[in-house]
Amino acid sequence: MTLLPRIVRWLERGSVSLHFHYQSSANMCTKNRRLRVLVDMDGVIADFEGGFLKKFKARYPNEPFISLEDRRGFWVSTQYGDMRSDLCDKAISIWESKNFFIDLEPLPGGVEAVKEMSKMENTDVFICTSPIKHYSYCPYEKYAWVEKHLGPEFLEQIILTRDKTIVTGDILIDDKPDILGVEPNPSWEHVLFTACHNKHLPANPSQRRLLSWADDWRAVLASKRQ
Ligand SMILES: [Mg+2]
Repeated sequence: MTLLPRIVRWLERGSVSLHFHYQSSANMCTKNRRLRVLVDMDGVIADFEGGFLKKFKARYPNEPFISLEDRRGFWVSTQYGDMRSDLCDKAISIWESKNFFIDLEPLPGGVEAVKEMSKMENTDVFICTSPIKHYSYCPYEKYAWVEKHLGPEFLEQIILTRDKTIVTGDILIDDKPDILGVEPNPSWEHVLFTACHNKHLPANPSQRRLLSWADDWRAVLASKRQ
């Protein structure tokens, strides 16, 4: 046999074998695979914006403030700094203070939704949250918040990271419009959770939203199981 027909036969065998591999892993995905849901904390289950405004007004009663209705842009400190430059540091002083993160109120329906999804069959839920760099209180208080509102069993499900792109998962529910890091192609689909600072952004057809926890989050999870 000359070389060319031999190569063609090898390639054919190879493609048959590859096809089998592809099919078996595809079946595994649909039948046995567990869904991994990553849920952000601030602005998704914990009311960062409401907690900030309340404490800012209490600490700086004579300074101007931005109502939640007028919030624009992800970074609170940027918008306060744009209003008057010294207000940037005053804003930052609020979330760098002791008891800021532990005192945050749960956002409506968030704790209940996370508890419910964690009980769903073939579903793993992780709280995936970025601590601030001023670490005196924030990381401790995030753990304490999870224990207080979700229960001690959820302490196993916390991921503290400044770079969420390196975490693998099927869905990341997060209120930050752009989630960037060292991994250019994160494994998760980012579902944007609507918050006062992002609700005015133009609709992005390539990005799904959850308008609140009253929205159909169960359908979003179901869509990733197919
Ligand atoms: Mg957030």
